[in-house]
Amino acid sequence: MQLDTPDLARSNEDLRSQVIEFCREHGADLIGFAPVQRWDDYDEVPLEFRPQSLFPPAKTVIVIGMSMPLPIVETTPSFLHKELYTACNQELDGIAFNLTRFLNRRGMASYFFTRDGYGSLSALKKKPYAAFGHTTAARYAGLGTIGLSHNLLTPEYGPRVRFVSVLTAAELQGEPVMDKDLCIKCNACAKCCPKDALKARDDQIRGDYDVNLCIDQHIELVKQRCYPCGICIKVCPIGKDRALYKQKGIVKKYLNEADALTANPDDPEYRAWTHVRRYGCRLPE
Ligand code: SF4
Ligand code: SF4
Repeated sequence: MQLDTPDLARSNEDLRSQVIEFCREHGADLIGFAPVQRWDDYDEVPLEFRPQSLFPPAKTVIVIGMSMPLPIVETTPSFLHKELYTACNQELDGIAFNLTRFLNRRGMASYFFTRDGYGSLSALKKKPYAAFGHTTAARYAGLGTIGLSHNLLTPEYGPRVRFVSVLTAAELQGEPVMDKDLCIKCNACAKCCPKDALKARDDQIRGDYDVNLCIDQHIELVKQRCYPCGICIKVCPIGKDRALYKQKGIVKKYLNEADALTANPDDPEYRAWTHVRRYGCRLPE
């Protein structure tokens, strides 16, 4: 049966609602839809990294986000943060895998791209790219804007959200791309980065990012069993998630953390975080 245009639009709208319901039921916090045409319109991503090159039937990229609770992110580097990261990744891949099959069963050819696509840190060091970028996909899906730190900042969780993408032949209505930058260029991410890998720029929001310094930090943290770093994610003041935890003066606390703990590793102001760091990983005492 061939659907005429209004019927097709209605059926796509129904499918879009079903996708949102499916993702919510499976634990997603954010769901966005990016028409693949946006990769051509913005023309920022090399051709072979665009969804239509990876999966030619693709008409829409469905981007699914899962938030990471701030008090756990604040303990980074720690085994607790590592376990959160692992759990979040597994949940995201599970949603994407199941949504892909859900759409395939409805006759919409689909394909998902795992939430990290780089394989290993040594592979990333040789070639510092993933085959598909979820950050760009999330921006084109209207979920947020890219900050100085190169992380995607969302109104709801700042950068404390991880993403996975499902590429589908279904033509689903996209959200507008956000035109106002969420990053306020407070520079907290650059000041707190332990490797000095981020530098603000006067001519644009996105800073200079030395990916090799960041990878080196992660290689160290793997040895210490508390990968990943995520300090730039922890300290970013953007995100309504902060309101839940009612932390006054928290950015000052982040900015002082390294000096305060060098002066006194038992500084009581940081005890909740340092206690967690002392167990389950191999950080220097
Ligand atoms: S993840 Fe860590 S090392 Fe990498 S840029 Fe962010 S703060 Fe710096
Ligand atoms: S910490 Fe500040 S400068 Fe860095 S991304 Fe967040 S808002 Fe932008």
